[in-house]
Amino acid sequence: MTQVISQEEIDELLTAINYDPESTFMSNSALSQEEFYQLLTPINVGNPINFENIKIFEEYLTKRHQPEKPYGIFNSDITMCKFFDTENNENILADIVQKNEAQNMGNVQIPNTNIKLINYSICPKCGHIFSFKDLVDYYANPRPDSQFRNRESQYREDTRILCNECNTYFFPALVIVDGTPKNEVQFLCRVQTVDAIEAFFLDKEKKVLTKNKSNILERSEKGKTVKAIKNDIFLKDLSPKLTLISNLIQYTPANMTINLINGVNIKKGDVLFGAWQ
Ligand SMILES: [Zn+2]
Repeated sequence: MTQVISQEEIDELLTAINYDPESTFMSNSALSQEEFYQLLTPINVGNPINFENIKIFEEYLTKRHQPEKPYGIFNSDITMCKFFDTENNENILADIVQKNEAQNMGNVQIPNTNIKLINYSICPKCGHIFSFKDLVDYYANPRPDSQFRNRESQYREDTRILCNECNTYFFPALVIVDGTPKNEVQFLCRVQTVDAIEAFFLDKEKKVLTKNKSNILERSEKGKTVKAIKNDIFLKDLSPKLTLISNLIQYTPANMTINLINGVNIKKGDVLFGAWQ
């Protein structure tokens, strides 16, 4: 089951847009090693893949891709969960699937395919497993960390999970399962997915999602302002980044996923993660 984006999450996203990326960049006293890395990485100029039909999209998801650098800001070495490099991985994944089912969250089935997206989230130190709900709950309330300039930027950029059993940070993964596991990418929460997609397009000097004010919808309902964000992403433009596509799809409600894959989401006025009914 996909959870609809909450107004709190939209507010978290919109608060952070008041920051001009350039001035934010300048106000950081020093660049982290990771930021240097990102600056030095050439932009992937591969041709976008047109997802003309669902088969092409399935192939795209299940075919191995170039590994991507970890998303988020962090100043020490953080272990990334690696399904394909872990002993006993099938059993661990089965435990996570079961925990997700019991909590009725995660285990996202992509419509018209056999593909499921499943979080692979196990503490590298003590082996404690985290369900989809555990991840979402942590990202909604991460341990405060002064390397982030404010709480909103931590919501957007702190992609780590802290294991409270043994005090270890790690990055969870998202496994792409087509009958059997085929691929894995970094797991991002909804707010981090938006942030990473916006950063990807800003690199190409394009403002999308909350970076483009005209995408922010507002209306009054029972005296309260209800907000939503128009989804102005052409999925094919994201094709250099399997991580971003997988996470975006994981949070898109089933009835809007096909629009997104076919590229008609903009024409149909779909909103991000389906919050605007
Ligand atoms: Zn642990």
